[in-house]
Amino acid sequence: MSPVLPRSKSPSDPIAALLSAHGLRRTSASHRVLGWLLAHPDTSYTHAQLQAALAGEGDAAGGAVLDRVTLYRLIDRLTQVGLLLCRVDASRVRRYQAMPPGVHAMPHFECQSCHRDSPLENALQASAGDLDRAAQSALEALKALGYQGMSLDFAVRGVCADCATAARTQGAPA
Ligand SMILES: [Zn+2]
Repeated sequence: MSPVLPRSKSPSDPIAALLSAHGLRRTSASHRVLGWLLAHPDTSYTHAQLQAALAGEGDAAGGAVLDRVTLYRLIDRLTQVGLLLCRVDASRVRRYQAMPPGVHAMPHFECQSCHRDSPLENALQASAGDLDRAAQSALEALKALGYQGMSLDFAVRGVCADCATAARTQGAPA
């Protein structure tokens, strides 16, 4: 059960603070979209899934339903400023996920066999920190050159360990 969003511009509201820090207007729609994705950091949503999720929440909270065009624009804007991560999955569908504050690169693995898209932070352990620092300095260097609205997608593609094991088992000569 999600609480009804306060209309006040309380400085302690972390979502409003994030929107302001990225130069976005603090509308109730942008607050809802970013709030939802931050509350579900491990899930990536397609446009349609996000719209359905927010429509359900809107009914529960008595809020207005976000129309498709508004939602699409909002998602684009949030992605441009790096608050959302956009990934194109194996079926070429765009999926969006909240970028945790302070994180610059979220390495993930796209399995070309089972099409699962899984985070790599745990698998990479200490290297994930190195990657994030490298991503941060790359973004800072580009920003100094005048590039704007950058986001970074660190995708590793291949066959996951589960699929590789299954293939070895099935393909083993008798
Ligand atoms: Zn797999």
